[in-house]
Amino acid sequence: MRHTPITLVITLISSFALAEQRHASSHVHGLNHATVVLDRNSLQISYEFPTEQLSEHEHDEHKHGDERHELAQKLEAIESVFAIVSLPENAQCKEIEVTHSLTQVVGSDIKLEGHRDALIQAILECRAPENLTNLSFEPAFERFDDLEKIEVEGVMETEALSVTLTSSSSSLEL
Ligand SMILES: [Zn+2]
Repeated sequence: MRHTPITLVITLISSFALAEQRHASSHVHGLNHATVVLDRNSLQISYEFPTEQLSEHEHDEHKHGDERHELAQKLEAIESVFAIVSLPENAQCKEIEVTHSLTQVVGSDIKLEGHRDALIQAILECRAPENLTNLSFEPAFERFDDLEKIEVEGVMETEALSVTLTSSSSSLEL
């Protein structure tokens, strides 16, 4: 049985809906989106970013081959969500499942034709979720040179969160 109060469920659904809209209308280089949901022992983290972040500044002039396949390989090389976010050790969070996906940016903006977003979704099981006092996205800022800001939204048990992080302020106190 889930005990999430109904108001939180609504908040959560509307924040996902907003994320979808934002996704459709603006794919902004340098801006990433994270969604974090803690429900008892289960922690879900989604992380979305423009695929330009996957190509490490080598100007791919030689774009023969399957671009989508190459992007998928680079994305899957990020095997764990811990490459993006770090959690307090004593929360004892273990990654149960990680999925990777690529989506084509849709919308009316012709400049963004052919651009894609990458999404990493992880489900973690935390043995001591009360120790989740801090989430640090420093690994993401270290990994992606072009990353400027991360908008984090979510629900930690009873608390809704909405924060913008930068490299100089990359962690979230809960
Ligand atoms: Zn783009």
